[in-house]
Amino acid sequence: MIQTIEPRSGVAFALRKGERLRVIDPQGEQVADLVAFNSHDLGEAISSGRSIDYASRIYLSTGDPIYSNRSRVMLRIGEDAVGRHDFLLSPCSAEMFRIIYGDERPHRGCFGNLAAALAPYGVAPDAIPTAFNVFMNVPVDPLTGTIRVEPPLSRAGDYTVFEAQMDLLIGLTACSAGQSNNFSYKPIHYEVLPGG
Ligand SMILES: [Zn+2]
Repeated sequence: MIQTIEPRSGVAFALRKGERLRVIDPQGEQVADLVAFNSHDLGEAISSGRSIDYASRIYLSTGDPIYSNRSRVMLRIGEDAVGRHDFLLSPCSAEMFRIIYGDERPHRGCFGNLAAALAPYGVAPDAIPTAFNVFMNVPVDPLTGTIRVEPPLSRAGDYTVFEAQMDLLIGLTACSAGQSNNFSYKPIHYEVLPGG
């Protein structure tokens, strides 16, 4: 059954080993921040640094594993219509909106939404890792390393599938940052599919 994440909000749910998570961009140009924890030991979470290191590549897509801080594969990327995601930038947050956007009354962002959704499961805010930012488009200048946040390449109905390699607690948002979503806040859809 397809579930909806309302604009600028987030959810948490269990994803069992072998199940697949389909993250859908229903309207196009909308980012979803994804984090995952070992549901049996919340000290193990996805690791941007290890995943990028082992892939020797910053853009991950079909077939690529997402490793934990303990170098075990937590998720593997399956079918991927978009092929451009970010795994460098941390979830948008009230502090980020103050520092980069100059907002005086900032939204709590993906970070605040993830913290609220994950709190009932016992995840403290400081334990939230760099998210796998589904559909986020961050080109990097190869010479200077300068990054830009561009509109996502995802079009209405595009999706990416993630295959759970262990029992997981997932946090997932409809991102709250203007730049990341071409300055309109849209919903995200997702669906948990049985293994196979
Ligand atoms: Zn965000």
